[in-house]
Amino acid sequence: MSKNREYDYLIIGAGLFGAVFAHEATKKNKRCLVIDKRNHLGGNTYCENIEGINVHKYGAHIFHTNDKFIWDYVNSFVPFNRYTNSPLANYKGELYNLPFNMNTFHQLWNVKTPDEAKAIIDKQTKEHKTKRPTNLEEQALSLVGKDIYEKLIKGYTEKQWGRKATQLPAFIIKRLPLRFTFDNNYFNDTYQGIPIGGYNMLTNGLLNGIECRTGIDFFEDRENLSDLADNIVFTGKIDEFYDYSLGRLEYRSLEFKHKILRKSNFQGNAVVNYTAANIPYTRILEHKHFEFGNQENTIITEEYPLEASIKNEPYYPINDTKNTNLYKAYKEMSEQDQIIFGGRLAEYKYYDMHQIIGAALARAKKLLS
Ligand code: FAD
Repeated sequence: MSKNREYDYLIIGAGLFGAVFAHEATKKNKRCLVIDKRNHLGGNTYCENIEGINVHKYGAHIFHTNDKFIWDYVNSFVPFNRYTNSPLANYKGELYNLPFNMNTFHQLWNVKTPDEAKAIIDKQTKEHKTKRPTNLEEQALSLVGKDIYEKLIKGYTEKQWGRKATQLPAFIIKRLPLRFTFDNNYFNDTYQGIPIGGYNMLTNGLLNGIECRTGIDFFEDRENLSDLADNIVFTGKIDEFYDYSLGRLEYRSLEFKHKILRKSNFQGNAVVNYTAANIPYTRILEHKHFEFGNQENTIITEEYPLEASIKNEPYYPINDTKNTNLYKAYKEMSEQDQIIFGGRLAEYKYYDMHQIIGAALARAKKLLS
C-alpha cells in the first residue's frame, strides 16, 4: 500500500452509503475524499429548499426502522420529527386510507366491525383461492378480492410496471397485508420520522469536516482520481464500473414534475396515490406536510413511472432472472478487484435508508477495525 497518496479513501458517491462510510473512516483518523457527479451531496435523499419547503427531489423519503441503534445513530446528527406515513388513495375522486385497514374497509363497504370486513373479503377471495395464480391479477384477487384489487391495486400496479396485471408474474405480490384495526400508519416499525430541517441536515452532519467535491464524475477522470487514494469505495453502478462489458443492468425509473402552487394546502396529506388507470402519475407528494409546514405556498410533485432506459435515472433494480444473473457475473468480476463496492447501485439491490446505513456501518466496522 502506497504511503504517499493524499487520501486513505476515495469515496465515490455522497449518498447515505458513502457519507456513513466516510464518517466512520474519519472517526478512525483516515483521510477521506468524497466525490459525487451530481452538483449536491446526499444522493437520493437530497432536498432542495424552495420557498422555505424541503422538496424531496428524488421522491418521498420517509425514515423508518426497528433498530434502536440505527435510530440513535441518525438522531445523533439531527433530531427527527414525529411524521407518520399515512398515505391516501384517490380512485376516481373517492378517497381511501392506506394501508388496507378498517378505515379502508369502512370507506369501501360501510362496514364497522372486523367480522363484517372479513366476511366480505372471504366471500370475494373464495372463488379465486382454488387454483394456483398464474399472474399478478390472479394472485391479488386470491389475496384481497375484487373490490380492493380493482380500486386500489390494478391501475396503480399497471402504471408502475407499464404492463397489464395479467402479464405480470404472480411473485411480484407475495403478500398484501390486511389490517383489521383502524390504524393508518403505513409502517410497522417502532421508529419513524423526517429529520427536522430536512435530510440535508443528516448529510451535513455525517460529512461535517470531510473534504467533498461535487460535479465530479469518477469515469471522466478515473486514473487520476484513483491515484489520489490507497482505497476506493464505489457506490455508483457496478455495470458502469466495468464499462458495461457484460451488458447493462436494468432499472425502472421515475420522472418527477415539481410544481409551486400559490395556495397554502393542496391535498392535506404528504402522499396521495392515484390508483385509477386513466391518471398517468402514480402519486402526488405535497412536501410541506412531511415537516408540518405552514408556509404561504405549497409545492407538489407528480411521480410518473418510466421504462428502464439508458437516459433515465436508475431507481428500482429489476430483479428478474436475467438481471440477477448479470449482477452475479459482475459481482464475481468485482471479487478480483481491491475496490469496496457498496450501496444500492453497486449491489444492484433496493435498500431502504436504515438498511443502507446498517450495511455501511457493518462494512466500515469490518474494514476499519
Ligand atoms: P444514492 O443515494 O443513490 O447515492 C449514490 C450516489 O453516487 C449518487 O449521489 C450518485 O450521483 C453518485 N454516483 C454514481 N455514479 C457516480 C460516478 N460515476 N461518479 C461520481 N458519483 C457517482 N428509503 C427509505 O428508507 N424510505 C423511503 O421512503 C424511501 N423512498 C425512496 C423513494 C425512491 C423513489 C427511491 C428511488 C428510493 C427510496 N428509498 C427510501 C431508498 C433510499 O433512497 C436508498 O436507501 C438510499 O438512497 C441509498 O443510498 P446510496 O448511498 O446507496 O445511493
